[in-house]
Amino acid sequence: MKRIYKIMMVAMVSAFAFAACQQPANQNETNNNQTKEPLAMKDQNGKYVLPELPYAHDALEPYIDKMTMEIHHGKHHQAYVTNLNNAISGTEMENMDLMDIFKNMSQYPVAVRNNGGGHWNHTFFWEIMGSNAGGKPSGKLLSAIEKRFESFDKFKEEFSKAGATRFGSGWAWLIVDSNGELQVSSTPNQDNPFMDVADIKGLPVLGVDVWEHAYYLKYQNRRPEYLENFWSVVNWNEVARRYEEAVK
Ligand code: MN
Repeated sequence: MKRIYKIMMVAMVSAFAFAACQQPANQNETNNNQTKEPLAMKDQNGKYVLPELPYAHDALEPYIDKMTMEIHHGKHHQAYVTNLNNAISGTEMENMDLMDIFKNMSQYPVAVRNNGGGHWNHTFFWEIMGSNAGGKPSGKLLSAIEKRFESFDKFKEEFSKAGATRFGSGWAWLIVDSNGELQVSSTPNQDNPFMDVADIKGLPVLGVDVWEHAYYLKYQNRRPEYLENFWSVVNWNEVARRYEEAVK
């Protein structure tokens, strides 16, 4: 009996200590510009999974509304994950890195292109947004943007234009190309700049989803207004981290 009592005490003290350690982490969740662990796209068994949003569904209000986030993340992104798992099931792609598939995308099934792209693009999208965000980048990224596009405002104009003029569904991107230069581009559907099928290839550092499902509930046909408000939720810390990683 004594031994069991001892074990129980140890367990209780450990649980208390664990809970105490969790406290600061929870407090940090109010600041989404905090550096975080990258969102997991796979579980331990190698199955693709829907990552949890790194903030609450209403964290991007009033620019992106709660219901849009709930449906976009919980339904649309989930569907890409489910369909990707189904598309690769029982094939060599099950054990391949998504990046290796993207590099030779034209040789793989269109279901993997659409849903693999969908999974990667959305995971990225959630990370480059946040609450208490927006404003301007600083440091190396701002210098590189000003060097390439003359000014931050001109860059914003070019990026928004790429999103506004993408016919139908797709994405606008800011990428680092193979020369280490920043480029604005756009892709249709769920394609992305990693894919061999993309017109302009590179490493994405910023991207915006211009599918109607990303904005229709709040903005209806007003895509340019959604794109204008997108600047208020850009997590520049994450964009800068990706930029610095890309030019290393
Ligand atoms: Mn989407």
